[in-house]
Amino acid sequence: MQTFGYVKPTGVDKAIGQSAGNFIAGGTTLVDLMKLSVEQPKTLVDINLLPLDKIEKLPNGGLRIGALVRNSDLAWNADVKKDYAVLSEALLSGASPQLRNMATTGGNLMQRTRCMYFREPSAGMPGGYACNKRTPGSGCAAMDGFNRIHAVLGTSEHCIATHPSDMCVAMAVLEATIHVQGPNGKRTIAFEDFHKLPGDTPNIENALEPGELITFVDLPKPVAGAKSTYLKLRDRASYEFALSSAAIVLRVEGGHIRYVRVALGGVATKPWRSHEAEKALLGKRADLETFRKAAEAAMAEAKPRKDNAFKVELAKRCITHALTLATA
Ligand SMILES: Cc1cc2nc3c(=O)[nH]c(=O)nc-3n(C[C@H](O)[C@H](O)[C@H](O)COP(=O)(O)OP(=O)(O)OC[C@H]3O[C@@H](n4cnc5c(N)ncnc54)[C@H](O)[C@@H]3O)c2cc1C
Ligand code: SF4
Repeated sequence: MQTFGYVKPTGVDKAIGQSAGNFIAGGTTLVDLMKLSVEQPKTLVDINLLPLDKIEKLPNGGLRIGALVRNSDLAWNADVKKDYAVLSEALLSGASPQLRNMATTGGNLMQRTRCMYFREPSAGMPGGYACNKRTPGSGCAAMDGFNRIHAVLGTSEHCIATHPSDMCVAMAVLEATIHVQGPNGKRTIAFEDFHKLPGDTPNIENALEPGELITFVDLPKPVAGAKSTYLKLRDRASYEFALSSAAIVLRVEGGHIRYVRVALGGVATKPWRSHEAEKALLGKRADLETFRKAAEAAMAEAKPRKDNAFKVELAKRCITHALTLATA
């Protein structure tokens, strides 16, 4: 690890004034990446003293989550458990209790891929791998390498890395709004616009401008009468990233689906809202046949590679089972 500077501002304005620095919150992603020399910040801007650690009800019936709210506090919050159960379930399926006690909402939104080539020495270094995300233009070692954990949706010829977050999959179906503040003031970003597809610039992962800080995430008022679930399939039952996951929010009336949101994790390059699945479900009977058709629609555009073709079938079963659970 290289030497670096360290500052710990007490106000948001002071934090975003540190333009040369990287923000550090829980440190559970960033410190690993610094040890691996994937990230080499000159200065760490520790944001843990900023007043962004509250969960508050909004006048419009929604919920405001500070960027520094720990994953554990969010998962066990009474309002989240009651009104946004899918978010609580997704958070509790991630990492370990110790990590969740440190990990923050902002850090989770910004966590980076677990692609093993990204986390190894880069091309040009001894034993280094080509990685367009880490060293733009160097190539992609995963494309013809071992790509069992990689994405089948939203990929490009330059990167097939999976987005690893569980929390983000739940936030996609909840249609969260992300508040940011930077050198040019405050703005909001719709959740679906926050994470970027790799395209030909896999190094650009999100919509943040240089120096912008995530301050809050707002959840809209809960959907009346809706049920939700988060189902995560992985190689072992805990402390493991998703091979495939599905977040569902839906309302059924008279046996028919009147409201539905579907998002997928573990199979795509960003938290994957499946509008195709939603279209196949809305207005239809809430039965197994409908669920299977929705799963087919969700994965119709999947582009598997040598080692991850199993994810296409796994994701279909994950979606079908999650819909069955949500309507049970
Ligand atoms: C062993 C292990 C297992 C894990 N398993 C899972 C899992 O199963 N599911 C899952 O979803 N996650 C998992 N994670 C990832 C974990 O959820 C993230 O590491 C965590 O959420 C990151 O939050 P943090 O506060 O520690 O971020 P940090 O490490 O502090 O920061 C991460 C990045 O976010 C940026 N950042 C932080 N806060 C802000 C902000 N407010 N505004 C702008 N940028 C900001 C930092 O600059 C940095 O680039 C795992 C992690 C580990 C180490
Ligand atoms: S999949 Fe993306 S992150 Fe992984 S090696 Fe290829 S370019 Fe790098």
